[in-house]
Amino acid sequence: MSQYTLDLTGKVALVTGGSRGIGKAIALALAEKGAKVALTYSRSADAAEEVKTAIESLGTQAMIIQADAASFEGANETVSAIIAEWGGLDILVNNAGITKDGLILRMTEEHWDQVMETNLKSIFNYCKAVARPMMKGGGGSVINMGSIVGITGNAGQSNYAASKAGLIGFTKSYAKELASRNVRANVIAPGYILTDMTDALDEKVLEGITNATPLGRAGNVEEVAAACVFLASDLSSYITGEVIRVDGGMAI
Ligand code: NAD
Repeated sequence: MSQYTLDLTGKVALVTGGSRGIGKAIALALAEKGAKVALTYSRSADAAEEVKTAIESLGTQAMIIQADAASFEGANETVSAIIAEWGGLDILVNNAGITKDGLILRMTEEHWDQVMETNLKSIFNYCKAVARPMMKGGGGSVINMGSIVGITGNAGQSNYAASKAGLIGFTKSYAKELASRNVRANVIAPGYILTDMTDALDEKVLEGITNATPLGRAGNVEEVAAACVFLASDLSSYITGEVIRVDGGMAI
């Protein structure tokens, strides 16, 4: 039998923005494979509580922490709290992200800054906070949530696309810096996934997206979570600095 498995029993994971959508699905999928899961949320304490209960019902442990992903101190405090409780940290999923869409002529400085702080600075905050503990612990796996928009660009999303393209460069650099310490770092680049974030799109836009997707449909959150579990586990032990599209072929 292969020594490489999907089993995450005994591993400790942190998922930012884990109270709903893709982050929630990832938190549950990691827990299903046996990991203890800490998740951060920005506002929705009730939703975070529900995810905690769902994780515990899978027979593992959960922790919820309110922390703005854009806060450097918040990242350090979050990582310290997890290590104080569970003794280490093996898996980091930087999932928290926002959109503030607008064509460039209308885009405000505030919307640019908010997206960069939440989507890109957060990556620096948490990747830096976990680097030393993961190195000390003998390794780890970091998964940063990108988007195919960071590869292809998208009219009306220059701030979002820049933040998602930026995290690819960051992840590849981080992967090179920490590879010798067995810390791996990869990006998942989802295409069109059905969540609260995409609920706001109207029928016409949705139809256009479906037509532009070779697999002919939107993705679901569990399909993104499946790629994340793979990257978190030993099954991907020789993969680092990679960008995995989960987009139904949209960006082929
Ligand atoms: P969502 O809006 O449903 O969830 C986003 C999560 O991030 C929420 O839990 C929210 O509370 C959290 N969050 C937002 N700002 C935060 C902050 N400052 N601090 C802490 N948490 C914060 O969106 P989603 O679709 O589940 O998106 C999750 C990730 O996947 C994002 O990074 C997004 O850019 C990316 N993504 C989504 C799609 C898609 O089609 N849904 C496509 C490509 C990439």
